[in-house]
Parts: sequence; C-alpha cells; structure tokens
Amino acid sequence: GVLGSGDFARSLAVRLVCSGFKVVVGSRNPKRKASLFPAAAEVTFQAEAVKKADVIFVAIFREHYSTLCDLADVLVGKILVDVSNNIEINHHKESNAEYLASLFPACTVVKGFNVISAWTLQSGARDGNKQVLICSNNQEAKRTVAEIAQVMGFTPVDMGCMSSACEIENIPLRLLPAWKIPIFLALGLFLCFFTYNLIRQVIHPYIREEKNKLYKIPIEVVNTTLPCVSYVMLSLVYLPGVLAACSQLYYGTKYRRFPDWLDQWLQHRKQIGLLSFFCAALHAVYSLCLPMRRSHRYLLIETAVKQAVEKKMTIWVEEEVWRMEIYISVGIIALGLLSLLAITSLPSIANSLNWREFSFIQ
Ligand code: NAP
Repeated sequence: GVLGSGDFARSLAVRLVCSGFKVVVGSRNPKRKASLFPAAAEVTFQAEAVKKADVIFVAIFREHYSTLCDLADVLVGKILVDVSNNIEINHHKESNAEYLASLFPACTVVKGFNVISAWTLQSGARDGNKQVLICSNNQEAKRTVAEIAQVMGFTPVDMGCMSSACEIENIPLRLLPAWKIPIFLALGLFLCFFTYNLIRQVIHPYIREEKNKLYKIPIEVVNTTLPCVSYVMLSLVYLPGVLAACSQLYYGTKYRRFPDWLDQWLQHRKQIGLLSFFCAALHAVYSLCLPMRRSHRYLLIETAVKQAVEKKMTIWVEEEVWRMEIYISVGIIALGLLSLLAITSLPSIANSLNWREFSFIQ
C-alpha cells in the first residue's frame, strides 16, 4: 500500500508494480489521481487502501501525518514505512519516523527508502544510489521491508533500531561532510602561497623597478600557486601516517588512541589527496594555456625585434632548452603518477585491489 499520490508515491508505485507486487494507492482524491498511476495499481480512498495492504508506505510529508489519525483503527497491526525527509538537519527534536510511531502506537514503523529519490525509483536500481537504509525496533517488520527493497533491485542496509532514524533522515541533507576540512585547508594554503607569489611577481617588481605586472595576477600568479598547494597537500596525505607510526613507536603499543586532531587528519587523507590532484590538474591546464596569452605573444615579438636590432642570428641557449625539456617531462610524469593515486583511491577501484597492491601503488 502507498499513502499519497505525489512524486514519490507515483515512482514507488511504478517500481513496485514492475517488481511484481500488487499495489494499492490511498489518496484523498482517488478519481482525480488515478490516471497518474500505472493501470495495474489500484487507486482508492485512504481507508480502503489501508484495509487492503499489510505494508503501507507513507509517502506524505510529516506535517500531514496528523491528518491520518482518522485511519488509526484500520491501521492497527500494519507495518508503516516512513519515507519522509526533512528540509534541515535535525529540524525536529524527534525523527519523523519516531513521530509517526508516537501517533500510531498500534502499528509497527520502519524507516526506509528516504535516501532514494523519486527519480532513482523511476529509473530503476541501475542508475543512482542503490542502498536503502532501514531501521526499526521490530526485527520482523524490518526483514519484510528489506525483502521488498531487495526484490525492487536495491540493497537494504540494516541501520539498527529506531533511534537511528534521525541519522538516516539527515543523510540526504548533508553537503560533502568529509570535504569541509580539506577544502578549507586547500583554500588557506592557496591564500598563503598566492599572497607570497603576488608579492614576488607583482608587488616587488613594482616597488623596485616601477614595472606594472598586474596582468600576471589571473594566470601566472595562480599558476605558480597551484603546484605549491598541490605539493603541500600531497605531503599532508602521507605526514599523518608517519606521525601515527612515530606515536606508536614512542608509546610502544598500537592499542592507544591517537589524539583527536591526528585521528581527524588520518580520516581526511583521501580528500586531501584528491584536492592535491585537482590543483595539479589545474596547473597542467593553466600551463598549457600560457602561450595562448596576448602578453606572451607581445613578449616574444619584443624579443625578436630586440634580436633583429642587435643583429643576433640565434638566441638558442642549450642549457635552458634542456632545463625546460626535463622540467616539462618530469611534470607530465608527476601528473601521471598523481592521476594513478587519485584513480586508485576511488572506492570501486580500491575495492578491487588487495592490501598489498594498494600499498604498493601508494
Ligand atoms: P508531494 O508530491 O507533495 O506529495 C505529497 C502527497 O501527500 C500529496 O500528493 C497528497 O496526496 C498527500 N497528502 C496526504 N495528506 C495530505 C495533506 N493533508 N495535505 C497535503 N497532502 C497530503 O511530495 P513527494 O515528493 O511525493 O514526497 C512525499 C514524501 O516522500 C515526503 O515525506 C518526502 O520527504 C518523501 N521523499 C520524497 C522524495 C522525492 O524525491 N520526491 C525522496 C525521498 C523521500 P493525495 O492528495 O492523493 O492525498
């Protein structure tokens, strides 16, 4: 059974019908909404639908749960699946599922399916997130809902009892929680190196020789800043491992908790590494674009004109040529190796490597 006829209810009904379930939809206005559902799903009044189903997906918003109180008698003994989400993290004191359970004490409430979007339900389990996080205080009800999720092509994940509902409801609202510290770290480093390079390449020449080099800020200064950030970030990936090893040697045991800051640092290594790769990749793109700039062309022509005036036939400096060839080839190899590290840190690739292979690449 599905209560509600909105986006989520429709997608859910389609997916359930496709998976071979008999579906009955409960709406306040079944006549108007019936055409929106697949023909195989029965669309009727809420009370009728509830009578016909043992497992009922409550696809309506928390604010409207109280309007279901008239159905309390027919809902006795049914399994209610709370699929709702909030608009803010920890929006209410108690989770939506706990609130639903408090309204209908004679029902068994299971939290689940809220991490799946209506779109993912429609497009099937092939695209998008496959995991359906489930929690409930009733093992039997949880198993029933997990089986339904499995038949629908999803992977049920048992998150324990109802007290986990709040955590499950917060998941779709989180914005890259593991990336906050690494991003601030990268921005902080960028700011420091950018200021240093700005002083060196723009402000210093202006003060010393009154030369206006402001045009260097958008590309040249940024381009010299990016690899500095990338190198420091890369070293910050491996430094906490060394510190952790030193700490274990110093205390002579591995059964001692690391200080919180080191623990946090160790947990963010992957994100720090990926940001290091991002900066290195940007540096490569910026470097490739350097000769496209008008300032570069003017400087080239200026050099050529000076050479002609001075009647020099060649300005080839063997050492400089070799330096540049080696410099660029080492840069390309470094970027290639960093790409390898970045690719192997992706879960799908990392999971296909055993520990020895992973540490060999690292
Ligand atoms: P929606 O399109 O606005 O549909 C809500 C439905 O609630 C309405 O169609 C209405 O159906 C029903 N309803 C029952 N009593 C109501 C009342 N008193 N006032 C207003 N409507 C009432 O919302 P939705 O996107 O389907 O979302 C439904 C639930 O699924 C929400 O709790 C949401 O957090 C959750 N969810 C949605 C998505 C998503 O991708 N959309 C993803 C995860 C979870 P009738 O008029 O037929 O009664």
